[in-house]
Amino acid sequence: MSIRNVAVIGAGTMGAGIAQICAQAGWNTSLYDAFPDGLQRGMERIDAFWDKGITRGKTSLEQKVEWQKNLHAVSDMAQAVGNADLVIEAVPELPELKQKVFEEIDKYAPSHAVLGTNTSSLSIADIAKATTRPEQVIGMHFFNPVPIMKLLELVRHDSTSEATIDLAQSAGEAMGKTTILVKDIPGFATSRLGVVLGNEAIRMLADGVASAKDIDTAMVLGYKHPMGPLALTDLVGLDVRRDILRNLQASFDDDAYAPHPLLDRLVEQGRLGKKSGKGIYDWSKGSPEETSMD
Ligand code: NAD
Repeated sequence: MSIRNVAVIGAGTMGAGIAQICAQAGWNTSLYDAFPDGLQRGMERIDAFWDKGITRGKTSLEQKVEWQKNLHAVSDMAQAVGNADLVIEAVPELPELKQKVFEEIDKYAPSHAVLGTNTSSLSIADIAKATTRPEQVIGMHFFNPVPIMKLLELVRHDSTSEATIDLAQSAGEAMGKTTILVKDIPGFATSRLGVVLGNEAIRMLADGVASAKDIDTAMVLGYKHPMGPLALTDLVGLDVRRDILRNLQASFDDDAYAPHPLLDRLVEQGRLGKKSGKGIYDWSKGSPEETSMD
């Protein structure tokens, strides 16, 4: 099956980026959000990204106009998914909300449509249960910022069909991504390794092994990571990482995944990372500065 029409559900950080690359792939793309403000912000974010590309000479105004023709802001779910070959969901990481949204998508999307979810940590099988076509449901885990990050982690649950995997793989390639295929086990490949490294780095900071910058530099220069685990935790959001760790701790019934008490405390203090101005580092001047953990 070839793709002509795509719907992206949720126009936040991830949904806007996904809709952008779908439009760039030449697909007729509907971007839907349950909230008018959310939809408008998403469309503005895409527009700003394309404008920046023009200013930097990476794209042209003519190209932007072509891409814009492929992208439609839609405020009605039935209309958004009504003719979709592929639907990609990117609403907040709340199990009940995802299930409710999938029930609705399933009601209005054509019977052949493949349904992808951008969840970072939830069970794909549980989300698929909300539909009448679990074999057409697959995890499509993109990375932030979506137009730039090359990886697309595809997550198959026990009944995801080979045809669904094939379609998701070819969609990923058309969007310029490299795909990996992972089983539906909590944390998949990326989130599990990422949060464990970040949590251990926080434990080392609390134990006084070294300063935050020195722990990060250890991984950047010693292991060629593009960014240290503490700075990355600040970018992803301390709350997001804590929730993923809690999910893993409960799913595996293993306290090795318990969020370190320092991570819990920082979240309780509202230190959520770059988005709140302060997390492990102070971001008030734009770049990460060492700050007290008290
Ligand atoms: P976000 O909060 O930026 O965006 C969520 C959007 O969904 C908002 O615009 C909101 O208005 C909208 N929304 C809420 N309820 C809705 C509904 N019922 N129907 C339609 N839209 C609704 O969140 P995000 O960071 O884009 O995350 C979305 C998903 O992507 C989550 O599952 C998250 O775990 C995953 N994810 C996030 C990142 C990241 O770095 N932010 C990376 C990979 C995966």
